[in-house]
Amino acid sequence: MFPSRRRFLQATTGGLVVSAALTSPDTSVAADAAANRIHNPVSGDVLRSAGQLSADQKSLVESQRSIPVSGQSDVLVCGGGPAGIGAALAAARAGASVQLIEVAGCLGGVWTAGLLTKILDAENKSGIMAELLQKFAERGSDVAKSTDGTVYDPEIAKWVLEELCIEAGVKIRLHTRLVGVVTDDKRKVVAVLTESKSGREAWLADRFVDCSGDGDLAAHAGCQFDLGVGADCECQPMSMLALLTGIDPEEVRPFIRETSRKAKPLLLQLMEENGISPTYRGPTLRHLHSNIFSLMTNHEYGVSAFDADAISEATIQARHEIHAIVNGLRKVGGPWSNLAVVATAEQIGVREGRRIRGRYQITADDLSKGLRHEQAVCRAKFAIDVHALNTEGNKEVDRDYKKGGMRPYDIPYPALIAADVDGLLLAGRCISGDFIAHSSYRVTGNSVPMGEAAGLAAAVSIQKKVMPHELDWNAIKPFAQA
Ligand SMILES: Cc1cc2nc3c(=O)[nH]c(=O)nc-3n(C[C@H](O)[C@H](O)[C@H](O)COP(=O)(O)OP(=O)(O)OC[C@H]3O[C@@H](n4cnc5c(N)ncnc54)[C@H](O)[C@@H]3O)c2cc1C
Repeated sequence: MFPSRRRFLQATTGGLVVSAALTSPDTSVAADAAANRIHNPVSGDVLRSAGQLSADQKSLVESQRSIPVSGQSDVLVCGGGPAGIGAALAAARAGASVQLIEVAGCLGGVWTAGLLTKILDAENKSGIMAELLQKFAERGSDVAKSTDGTVYDPEIAKWVLEELCIEAGVKIRLHTRLVGVVTDDKRKVVAVLTESKSGREAWLADRFVDCSGDGDLAAHAGCQFDLGVGADCECQPMSMLALLTGIDPEEVRPFIRETSRKAKPLLLQLMEENGISPTYRGPTLRHLHSNIFSLMTNHEYGVSAFDADAISEATIQARHEIHAIVNGLRKVGGPWSNLAVVATAEQIGVREGRRIRGRYQITADDLSKGLRHEQAVCRAKFAIDVHALNTEGNKEVDRDYKKGGMRPYDIPYPALIAADVDGLLLAGRCISGDFIAHSSYRVTGNSVPMGEAAGLAAAVSIQKKVMPHELDWNAIKPFAQA
């Protein structure tokens, strides 16, 4: 109706409200003043926003506003998953003040919010990974003990991880998502921005470690990255895990993954004979303790880790499938007649996000040759593991990607250092590598030592007054043993 007239919107977190009082161009000053109103967490008052809607109503320019600096630390770690735990503990134990920012309501990432229950490629690791396995076993069930902590209870993991971080002096901020990064004119990362119930906040630090899995911090800092495979950036499927009860471990023993390699095909056969066709054709049942089990039998194909609508749809679909499968198995009767879902994962498991460009890129060729690197932070032994990228051929994993072969290989320290900015380290599944290499090094037994190395390097680089890329891993290692 009034195409030339600027429209100002008033916004509060969680919803937009068109304000009649702010529809005139003359009110822009008032809008900015409202935007800067002091946030008062005690009264519940929020820092308000103002903005200008484009004529086509397809975008909104948010007005400038001042946000509080909520923390200042030596090292800031984004993401409290396996990699983030390694990074935060190592940096704090090396004497750095550490702020850990995590969007979920618990630490552990895929281990806990994702209900994973199995740690792969951890047997040959020392340091924090070995310490965690020991704790998971000590506090866990007979199953946890008999698997040396590699099959663990997610609730025990939440408890242990919080306890260790608190003991080490790590400041933990849960329920808080990193949404922006500020770099200085020399392209050094100097601050991050977050959003939470406390509003928008800024956090300053000397060094940053991106352990967000998806490489959110690095991407916001402007780092280049790779995603998936091919021109369409096709990614591995997402999967939702669940906890189940109502079955007796003795009665379903042949179907339990830890008993034999045949457990997965046997469970698939049982499902198919009873008209159940799971989207993941390698259904994995794990016994955790008493009558509690975990199940992984879902694949959500072609979902982008950066499309909240697509993730929402995949999450709802996956949860529906889990309930349908459990209902179907219950109808099989016998040992399955009381099968029930205890919990589905709060966070659908994301296998692939951004692979941030680092100062070394791990490649399929490195895997086939069994790379030895003079700055190795750990040795990975897990196989190339590309789950079917689509429903074509109805496969469990895509064996074509295994052709180049894998021999145990080193993860080089430079693969953990962002190439495009300074002061930023990477750990976990977002480090620098190609599609095939990522499918192997991504497992959590490697994420923890990568995090430990990145956290230690962050702390030592501050002590030595150099940037992480100016350090040689061999000069850092002695600090790990100190
Ligand atoms: C379905 C599935 C099955 C798997 N099976 C196994 C297995 O059996 N064994 C195994 O060892 N590995 C397995 N993996 C691989 C493994 O779980 C991941 O590669 C591993 O979790 C990587 O660790 P990470 O710390 O890098 O990431 P994550 O575990 O994803 O942790 C990232 C953390 O960062 C947080 N975060 C993300 N973005 C932000 C943000 N913007 N702000 C604040 N916080 C943020 C997340 O909430 C999360 O806590 C599996 C993965 C999936 C998806």
